[in-house]
Amino acid sequence: MNIILLGPPGAGKGTQGVLLAERLGIPKIATGDLLRDAVKHGTPLGLKAKAVMESGALVSDDIIMGIVGEELAKPASSRGVIFDGVVRTIPQAEGVARLLDGMGRKMDLVLFFDVTDQEVLSRIEKRRTIEGRADDDPTAVQRRLTAYREQTAPVLDWYEARGGVTRIPAVGSVEAIADRVRKAVGR
Ligand code: AMP
Repeated sequence: MNIILLGPPGAGKGTQGVLLAERLGIPKIATGDLLRDAVKHGTPLGLKAKAVMESGALVSDDIIMGIVGEELAKPASSRGVIFDGVVRTIPQAEGVARLLDGMGRKMDLVLFFDVTDQEVLSRIEKRRTIEGRADDDPTAVQRRLTAYREQTAPVLDWYEARGGVTRIPAVGSVEAIADRVRKAVGR
């Protein structure tokens, strides 16, 4: 089963993605985590992505599609994956659809984590004090929200026109949201 988690930064995709991946026994492709790891280890990919990430802008579609192609080709991904933080642009949505199609697979479920800007800002501020992510500082956060509105929100319409989107109200406790996800996924 291939599932995509959509929603603004701080909507809880990462937290719910981990729980869902564990429950379904399939890996999660989280491009943000993979990029942060590359930055930490100073790999060529990390060196390319670092400044863009820290500014709060989006990394290029080419870089992202390279990462996704590699992850999807891994044997562990053969039974399905959870896409977390990817896709973020319409070209990425098209690219992922092409990759899946080439493997005789498709996106089975699109979950949209629906949350207000105000809730997002307060969650990210909390995360900043815990994790200290450079892109959680207020200027970068505003940039990330703008990137979301301008480049990622249109992706919802793209999926809406191709099979539909399931909306998850992403407020309340982690358990309450996980329960809504469980119902949407059907297991
Ligand atoms: P995240 O942890 O998903 O919020 O991602 C952190 C940062 O990594 C984003 O603000 C972008 O700079 C970059 N990034 C992660 N995933 C993508 C993607 N699918 N497309 C473009 N940039 C991405």
